[in-house]
Amino acid sequence: MLLAAASRGQRVAKIGQAERVRQLEAEEAGDHLFANRVRVYPKSVKGPVRRFKWGVLIFCLTLYYALPWLRWSRGPGQPTQAILLSIWHERFYFFNLEFWPQDIYYLTGLLIMGAVALFLVTSLAGRVWCGYTCPQTVWTDLFMWVERILEGDRNERMKRDAASMCFDTVWRKSLKHAAWVFIAFWTGGAWIMYYVDAPTVTVEFWTGTASTEVYFFTFLFTATTYLLAGWAREQVCTYMCPWPRFQSAMLDEQSFTVTYQAWRGEPRTRGKRANSAGGDCVDCGACVTACPTGIDIRDGIQLECINCGLCIDACNHVMARTGRPGWLITWDTLADQASKAAGTHTPFRFLRPRTIIYLTALIVAAGVMTTALALRPGIGLSVQHDRAPLFVRLANGDLRNGYTVKIVNKAWTPANFVLTTPGLARAALTEAERTQTAASQLELVVEADSVGTFRVFVTGQPAGATDGSQPVDFHLRNTATGEQTVYHSVFMSPTNGAKP
Ligand code: SF4
Ligand code: SF4
Repeated sequence: MLLAAASRGQRVAKIGQAERVRQLEAEEAGDHLFANRVRVYPKSVKGPVRRFKWGVLIFCLTLYYALPWLRWSRGPGQPTQAILLSIWHERFYFFNLEFWPQDIYYLTGLLIMGAVALFLVTSLAGRVWCGYTCPQTVWTDLFMWVERILEGDRNERMKRDAASMCFDTVWRKSLKHAAWVFIAFWTGGAWIMYYVDAPTVTVEFWTGTASTEVYFFTFLFTATTYLLAGWAREQVCTYMCPWPRFQSAMLDEQSFTVTYQAWRGEPRTRGKRANSAGGDCVDCGACVTACPTGIDIRDGIQLECINCGLCIDACNHVMARTGRPGWLITWDTLADQASKAAGTHTPFRFLRPRTIIYLTALIVAAGVMTTALALRPGIGLSVQHDRAPLFVRLANGDLRNGYTVKIVNKAWTPANFVLTTPGLARAALTEAERTQTAASQLELVVEADSVGTFRVFVTGQPAGATDGSQPVDFHLRNTATGEQTVYHSVFMSPTNGAKP
């Protein structure tokens, strides 16, 4: 029975392989430049790798769908969503942190850290990101699960697709696509909730009062999820994603990857009993039929391999059923495999030049980011000098310059500030729109979590040696917290001999 199952598996595997060979021959002969897609029908597998992959999938999906509903109290008038990238408020809220548009360099730092972390993980364990946590993999896995429930496993689906349409096929396929659209819709909807308050937008969506943008982007993300996870599948990983192209630059002989132990498996012993002369591989094709990208891991590391490890589970079953030791396909390093082929063992080395470089870069980037975040000012100041007139001479001989002063108050309460220009002789500041006596310091109030814009006149005597302009520093101090900041600007005056 086992042999019958194995030969059935081989026949099925060969259908795909024969089509690939035919295409390659046609391409080599120059028959055509375009190769038709070879449809992949992955067979379901059971085992520890598959269970772990289900666990990661459930964790990732739960996180994705649940996070927008997590609440966080920030005080009156503030959004209550823990993670919110509010386009309308121009803020990114992350629990206790709030990022303004001018904090964009934190995003740059975060992207750098993400990229370096990915390099490090790839150099240690190959494409585990692709095999387990990449959204394309997670949603494709989910869609395939739905497909298997409704259309059956690999052989049944292949037979169904090869046969002409019947009522049974029509209702199953219709239900499958409806389920895919349903999942895609909730995926697109959940994505929108990262940009607008989740409970509010849910009510608005179903009562028809949400904005056009909300409906448009929900539809857009529904469509892309449905197409990429339902139709494109492994084509995204193989042809659309750039990552497989440069992942090889991060791999070395010490990287853990899914590996066929050729020294143990070859020569293949199709149909032979365990302990017979030859290798452990019975050439059943179970590893190929289980592969979501349709490749044969026995050909070595390939661009299409996403390191998911499902072929390990598939092969372990065959090994158990034929009375052979498991893990013919396993996670291992090329260095260890070469040693094992020679009867020795090479221990895994975590610290190697490339991992040291990635780890150092990651620690430095994390250190810089944490320090910058800890020292991040709660206030901001920018001062823009008037373009015209550059200065005005007053009756008492003093000069007056006009400025537009912008003060950022990142606190969730209003704040009082004092503005001074200590380097300017006889300095007196006044707000243009307010009738007040000019004084050496100007008191300004900025609303909570906002930017205050003020027209400010500065009167003073330029230093004798200046000709046309002199530097002047604007000092801003929060009267409650004592936090200070300085903005370097200029005080304009006539050039030698010129009269204003
Ligand atoms: S060869 Fe194995 S590890 Fe690679 S994609 Fe296929 S099933 Fe996953
Ligand atoms: S490696 Fe394992 S699953 Fe693949 S053909 Fe050989 S015995 Fe079958």
